[in-house]
Amino acid sequence: MSIARNLRVNGARLWQSLMAMAEIGATDKGGNCRLALTDLDREARDLFVDWAGVAECSVTIDAMGNIFARRAGRDETLAPVVMGSHLDTQPTGGRFDGVLGVLSGLEVIRTLNDLDYQTERPLEVVVWTNEEGSRFAPAMVSSGVFAGVFGLDYGHARADRDGHTMGEELARIGYLGDEPVGGRDIHAYFEVHIEQGPILEAEGKEIGIVTGAQGQRWYELTLEGVESHAGPTPMDRRRDALLGAARIVDLVNRIGLEHEPLACATVGMLEVHPNSRNVIPGRVFLSVDFRHPDNEVLTVMDRDLRTQAAEIAERIGLGLAVEEIFSYAPIAFDEHCVDAVRRAADDLGYETRDIVSGAGHDACYIAGVAPSAMIFTPCIDGISHNETEDIKPEWATAGCDVLLRAALDKSGA
Ligand SMILES: [Zn+2]
Repeated sequence: MSIARNLRVNGARLWQSLMAMAEIGATDKGGNCRLALTDLDREARDLFVDWAGVAECSVTIDAMGNIFARRAGRDETLAPVVMGSHLDTQPTGGRFDGVLGVLSGLEVIRTLNDLDYQTERPLEVVVWTNEEGSRFAPAMVSSGVFAGVFGLDYGHARADRDGHTMGEELARIGYLGDEPVGGRDIHAYFEVHIEQGPILEAEGKEIGIVTGAQGQRWYELTLEGVESHAGPTPMDRRRDALLGAARIVDLVNRIGLEHEPLACATVGMLEVHPNSRNVIPGRVFLSVDFRHPDNEVLTVMDRDLRTQAAEIAERIGLGLAVEEIFSYAPIAFDEHCVDAVRRAADDLGYETRDIVSGAGHDACYIAGVAPSAMIFTPCIDGISHNETEDIKPEWATAGCDVLLRAALDKSGA
């Protein structure tokens, strides 16, 4: 372990690679648009596969287009330590979301190559297909298939708005691999990712030790009232669906506040019918997004939403339909992997704090089939899923150095 303790990645090379990848699908405002399985995604994949080849990795691709670049270990019968994330972006995405995790893994391998450093276990870098879920819903579908959350047919059948399926598009861009999806033994999985929130930067911490991920429950609500003329309809005879929606927006906010600081409660979408200035709205559709790391709290939030929204609707004489369209249980990452990250960051002298991921990540699904952990790095003003998403080069280096050390810890350096 004495050599390993002095190992550092090449931060300049990592940054150059990030910037080179960001040229593919670069947008005018300095971000990236590299939607899953487009020609630009193919270019990004090709560049990664090229780099992996130069780093003397063997590359395999599975039937969801997940790419595995493998550096042999001393004992090839042992399960690998796997590092990675995704290369696809939102339509107005940033340069670091996902890419940092993939290229940090590659930089770990390049660093070990520079030093001719042999690990006991093999190391692999993985690129998960369509993490963002922007072109093809849902998000994280390919790590989900890998983890057995979804079937392969389901994954291949995901279609974009033009009706192109993931299966067709994987074949079209040459990434429909023949390896089966899942069933690979993984000794440990580490994912470096930007925080996508403001906490680390605000507290001056360089590394977030991610202990788990929030659970999520998503709902769609429809309120049915009666459309009528804004002039002749007296106030006491109105069944105004938008008034009900407004009270529910406030209710959702109150439910979030009741479970501070860990709860998040958001109405992000509102559709008003007929949306005309002199018609009392007859129907309103709205979305609700609840997040919390404790499933029991989510159950309380669910109950309060259903009972209190029903009371609001009844008072105004509205019909109400509440449908839970998605739920995702909270995740606790593997304590040994989390400890490896903590030790690595402490040994390197970085300022750290424990943190729970507010967003979903591929690691959340992989945690179901392999010991997993995540390493968060700060991002400027907490901004992500935005072309202005930005980080400092030294934050990328810090995250990658922690990844190197945690991976060595787990790979039997
Ligand atoms: Zn991401």
